[in-house]
Amino acid sequence: MWSFRAWQRKRILARNPISAELWRRVVGSLPILDGLSDEELARLRERAVLFLHEKRLTALPGVELQAEDRLRLALQAELPLLHLAELGWYRGFHEIVLYPDDFLSPQKYRDPAGVEHEWDGEHSGEAWLQGPVILAWPGVQGSGGWEGYNLVIHELAHKLDMLNGDANGLPPLHRNMHIEAWATAMQSAYDQLDAVLDADPDAETPIDPYAAENPAEFFAVTSEYFFSAPDVLHQAFPEVYAQLAAFYRQDPLTRLQQLQHSHPQYAEPH
Ligand code: ZN
Repeated sequence: MWSFRAWQRKRILARNPISAELWRRVVGSLPILDGLSDEELARLRERAVLFLHEKRLTALPGVELQAEDRLRLALQAELPLLHLAELGWYRGFHEIVLYPDDFLSPQKYRDPAGVEHEWDGEHSGEAWLQGPVILAWPGVQGSGGWEGYNLVIHELAHKLDMLNGDANGLPPLHRNMHIEAWATAMQSAYDQLDAVLDADPDAETPIDPYAAENPAEFFAVTSEYFFSAPDVLHQAFPEVYAQLAAFYRQDPLTRLQQLQHSHPQYAEPH
């Protein structure tokens, strides 16, 4: 059957080719893509082109966006959705704003007694419920490796969380998933992390203690680890890893372990 969408897609892809040289260079600069199959990389390549066609990347003064940077950003943005077929989960926002540095953003919080608190928080990223995603450039440049840090995936995980309302750590689950299993896995890991930090705010935690900030941050931070340090996340919170694997329909831990077995540069633990 003829489909307008498929035709339109084809046209966008044909009009925005990525040269083989640029592709090699960018993929080579993103270790978190290592071990993906040729089929997955081909799909990611198409999705990245469509992403760059659909989203406006606004660079504030101080940020120089080259074709290479745009592609790097788009590939990391699309990695989480690689196996989430045609759900259109990024349809709800149109712009990514790149700040030259971490930024101050006015924060407001009304406590249970009704008192309004306002303060300036230092941020490297932000995702608004109905609005753009804001990313600080140094954080974008520092993303892409297996170090348990990925600002792009972190902020876009907030967007996935917001698909069904406020960011609360519960994105729309697939039909074969169970909300109780999700809630139990997330809550017990969150409580565990929280208890450690309650006892000692400076405690060494297996994952970034920022995850204990609230359930939304817990989902964003664990999503970040899922794709950029799956071994660390799996070791600390195997149930959380399992829920995220069901949600993203990917298994980066197996991919990383295969790399560690077959590639000399992965043999050393990172
Ligand atoms: Zn966050």
